[in-house]
Amino acid sequence: MTQAEFDIAVFAGDGIGPEITRPTLEILRAMAAESPAYDLRFKDLPAGATLYRDTGEAFPADSLSQARAADAILLSAMGLPDVRYKDGTEISPQIDLRKELQLFAGVRPVRVSAGQASPLTLPEGREIDFVLIRESTEGLFYSQGAGTVTETEARETLLITREVSEKLFEFAFALARERKDEGRGPGRVTCVDKANVFRAFAFFREIFDAEAARHPDLEANHAYVDATALWMVQKPWDFDVLVTENMFGDILSDLGAGLMGGLGLAPSADIGLHNAVFQPCHGSAPDIAGQNVANPMAMFLSAAMMLEWLGRKHDNAALVADGARLRHAVDAVLAAGVVRTRDLGGQAATDEVGRAVVRELCAGK
Ligand code: ATP
Ligand code: MG
Repeated sequence: MTQAEFDIAVFAGDGIGPEITRPTLEILRAMAAESPAYDLRFKDLPAGATLYRDTGEAFPADSLSQARAADAILLSAMGLPDVRYKDGTEISPQIDLRKELQLFAGVRPVRVSAGQASPLTLPEGREIDFVLIRESTEGLFYSQGAGTVTETEARETLLITREVSEKLFEFAFALARERKDEGRGPGRVTCVDKANVFRAFAFFREIFDAEAARHPDLEANHAYVDATALWMVQKPWDFDVLVTENMFGDILSDLGAGLMGGLGLAPSADIGLHNAVFQPCHGSAPDIAGQNVANPMAMFLSAAMMLEWLGRKHDNAALVADGARLRHAVDAVLAAGVVRTRDLGGQAATDEVGRAVVRELCAGK
């Protein structure tokens, strides 16, 4: 068998970033080393608030071009509250990446497995395992920073385009099909909007319906965003794939992280036609940086999503399988409940959690 090689651009970032990146790369290196089917080549790239403080540059052009050329991008967290650009705006190369690489699909899995402290008590036999897809390049964030404000009024633009919506919905249905094939969901996509009030959302819904008609083997339905917020609390086990506009997705994904019992376990991916960035939902957590106490699980789960995405894109079954294997190893360590970081009520250090996941991966072989 010829071994497929993939270049992974790595941004270790700021705050707890380097601490959670280290064990993540150890895990990925170990998996790649034992697989005859693929190899991963990591390229550390500088960017972020620490870099800006030290050099006056936050996102070197070379880092962007190397990230663009890589097969996938793994990013921990960037930004620090007390380091800002001269005009006072936040340093967030991860958001610049989303714009530059046109990463329109923000994928936010919401999953609660055994040992995870969800604020919800699930009825017997129910589990939470759905995916929220947030459009990430337009919607209500389109005029970000460019709205008009006068003495008497302020206006922002809500932009929905056919081009981006079509790609977004195509992506959502493809994901629902994968989940159905894996037995993780019924193959259902829910369009979350406010079509009863906004013409822009009626347009959004129309494009969704046209895409749904191309997938007669999958279910499609609609839900208003307000009702969706209610149902995410009342019956989250009913959802499979949710797809929505940028601002609605921003709000609902934090609700999703809340269902999971906090930020330390929430992974994410931002996916475009050519590139994809995988990173935990949390920020750089400067309050706990440098103490070896950060929870690396969200980063491990983001890395698992990266392996699955790469594997599907390149028809590499071993990569897809290893992504699932890493996710299961994280689940197993959480379920055992012995090695947990402070945010989960334990006392384990960041690197101990990494070693526990590696042990679990070896045991599962
Ligand atoms: P950003 O604006 O970059 O999203 P934020 O201000 O929302 O950042 P985070 O950096 O995500 O904040 O941190 C919010 C809180 O959650 C902090 O108290 C932080 O210590 C905690 N936290 C975030 N990530 C982790 C983690 N991986 N492990 C443990 N605690 C974390
Ligand atoms: Mg935040």
